[in-house]
Amino acid sequence: MTFNSLDLIEPIIKAVDQQGYKAPTPIQEQSIPLILEGKDILGCAQTGTGKTAAFSIPIIQLLENSVKPTAKRKRIRGLIVTPTRELAIQIGESFEAYGRFTSLKHTVIYGGVKQIKQVARIKAGVDVLVATPGRLLDLMDQKLLSIRDVEMFVLDEADRMLDMGFIHDIKRLLKVLPKQRQSLFFSATMPPNIMKLADSILNNPEKVSVAPVSSTVDIIEQYVYFVDKPNKSFLLQDLLKDEKIDSVLVFTRTKHGADKVVRHLKKKNIRAEAIHGNKSQNARQNALNNFKDKTTRVLVATDIAARGIDVDRLKYVINFDLPNISETYVHRIGRTGRAGREGISYSFCDAIEKEYLRDIEKLIKKKLTLIDGHDFPLMDHDPPKPQQQQGQRNKSSKKTAVTSKKEGAAKKPKRKFYAKKGVRKKGAI
Ligand code: AMP
Repeated sequence: MTFNSLDLIEPIIKAVDQQGYKAPTPIQEQSIPLILEGKDILGCAQTGTGKTAAFSIPIIQLLENSVKPTAKRKRIRGLIVTPTRELAIQIGESFEAYGRFTSLKHTVIYGGVKQIKQVARIKAGVDVLVATPGRLLDLMDQKLLSIRDVEMFVLDEADRMLDMGFIHDIKRLLKVLPKQRQSLFFSATMPPNIMKLADSILNNPEKVSVAPVSSTVDIIEQYVYFVDKPNKSFLLQDLLKDEKIDSVLVFTRTKHGADKVVRHLKKKNIRAEAIHGNKSQNARQNALNNFKDKTTRVLVATDIAARGIDVDRLKYVINFDLPNISETYVHRIGRTGRAGREGISYSFCDAIEKEYLRDIEKLIKKKLTLIDGHDFPLMDHDPPKPQQQQGQRNKSSKKTAVTSKKEGAAKKPKRKFYAKKGVRKKGAI
């Protein structure tokens, strides 16, 4: 199937062409015709499947086709609500990309920054507003914007929205939104509380869904290195000698760990930046922009900060630490291999993390490919667990991150961890 067969207007076809997309993704193929017919949608899809274009393209088409040339003032006719600032900005970029040859105006609002510029753009008139819930309600309370003319409403990443405690905000919005509207609801998972919320928003919806998280990982090549914790930075540095890895997202378990990796790489003149919760919104956005435009080669992120990050053509992900929650691994590597593209992930696994590796392999129902014969093989097969060091043994301690003492050790890698330069397996990296 091609975009031409989706009955799209010329300005959109031109814009999609400019993006270099050859064919619609499955979620786009399913959703676009239904949305153009005016149907409500219950979509089960995660980021990385092309779901943003699946809703923004038909919204642009329907709103562009119903612009009244006589209307003096633009009203907000499309509203997209999404949980995080990063996602809001990314959705805004989609409206920019797919709507650039139409007459529609859009803007993006989110908290954590001054409202003045956002308000000025809304006052100048927008057809489509992309918003996080808090800032949206705040500006509504101040009577600086109205959602009474909304014809198309999207609730994006609904499950994450509830996880983040936005349920009351959403209920408040629903009270003000016009009853007569088209609604599109997207969520990566559909547990009962999400279905209940969907029921309260949608009118006789069509269901669309694409492969669940665990099957999309099949297209990603997944490798694992066994390595001692203090040697992980050196292994990373070594891996980055490969110039093919020109842009890579590295995950660490902690903010402190992310900063430490960045410090190590910078000392070796490798362009790296961290993105985590201790950084200001602006610093996070700048780091993301630098990564997207390739000024920064390595973006080091914690899981929370990396949620929803969408970087075009990201091929490499490195798990500097293995997560103790297997689903997190799937989300992490899902940053690559997007929309059917090639993706490669490398995981660094120390002795303590072998247990997490087993859980991950059980979840994804396959074994990660082991890279052996590298320069930093695992030597310390039985490092003391932090709790044991403190004389505490309890069941939950098994899954706690390795901290303090071991991290202290990481500052000064002991020579004994270095293996003699071995022969790296051919074609390994
Ligand atoms: P999303 O699921 O909306 O986060 O999109 C994931 C990525 O897929 C984004 O980087 C889009 O630019 C890209 N994308 C969306 N639609 C297509 C398509 N039809 N062909 C190729 N890439 C696409």
